[in-house]
Order: sequence, then C-alpha cells, then structure tokens
Amino acid sequence: MSGTIARDFVGDRELLASLSPGGSPERPIKVTSAAVVEVRAAALACPLCNGEYRLHEHVAPASGLRRVDVTCRHCSTPRSLWFRLVSNEPN
Ligand SMILES: [Zn+2]
Repeated sequence: MSGTIARDFVGDRELLASLSPGGSPERPIKVTSAAVVEVRAAALACPLCNGEYRLHEHVAPASGLRRVDVTCRHCSTPRSLWFRLVSNEPN
C-alpha cells in the first residue's frame, strides 16, 4: 500500500465533496424549513466511505444560512454541511 496514493485519492474525494451540494457555503442545499435541516443532514452519506453522519452542532452563521457540523460514524471524518433556507409559501 502506498500512503501517498491513498492521500491523493482522499484529496480527490474531499475536493469532490466540497464541490457537491451542501459541501460549502457557496453551494448550500436548499431547504424550505429549518426543521428539515437536520433530517436532510442525517440522510446524507460520507463521501469517503458512504457511512452515516453523526450530527453535532446546528448553527445559523448568517440569516437564512444554516451549518450542521457532523462526523462520519464509520471513518470519523468531520464535515460541515451547509443549507440555505428558501421560502416556499403557497400564493
Ligand atoms: Zn466516512
């Protein structure tokens, strides 16, 4: 096993994760209610090992923006998931 190759592989997966929806504040997952933020976060899988997340903190760093700090239950990789609250009220 080559550690260098493994690290590069993980780096690619991390890059992809940061570019996927919810992986950065520039690419938040849109939700219609703060009540579903943690449900959505819990439904996502670790991009490295496909494991489930353990949810830690749910914070609102800006108006309409939510961040959920998680770690993977399987490989213990920490991640922050980003959500944007959008109104979806019927007219
Ligand atoms: Zn994992």
